[in-house]
Amino acid sequence: MFIDTHAHIYSEQFIDDKGGFLKRASAAQVFKILMPAIDSQSHKSMLELETENPDKCISMMGLHPCSVTESFEKELDIIDSYLQNRRFIAIGETGLDFYWDLTFKEQQLAAFNQQMDWAIDYNIPIVIHSRNSTKECIDAVEKKRTKD
Ligand SMILES: [Zn+2]
Repeated sequence: MFIDTHAHIYSEQFIDDKGGFLKRASAAQVFKILMPAIDSQSHKSMLELETENPDKCISMMGLHPCSVTESFEKELDIIDSYLQNRRFIAIGETGLDFYWDLTFKEQQLAAFNQQMDWAIDYNIPIVIHSRNSTKECIDAVEKKRTKD
């Protein structure tokens, strides 16, 4: 038996094959699929997939660093209200991505810090995306660890 700890199977490119990938996962003995959130555009399809397959597809909640823009605080408010209303398996995915775009570096860090705080508050794991930002990610986690 396996657990897939990171699959965006609710994404547009996979959702038409819903029945297919779930069957293939079962055949491969994958009995749980943890789904990291991306942003508010895809929360609905992620949560629907979980509702349809509550024993198999498990949602996380968070804001992906590549979805951090000037309006990231609005995204965080949406996440905050989800977190207040139900329990999630983890916060994620969050982190830093300095590969695609450096425009919102500071905002990425702020969003990452907020999500680390939520993981601590709700006492749940955090799923970290790190691309071209290993040192910055480790520093951010270290800072949080020594602060709390
Ligand atoms: Zn991911």
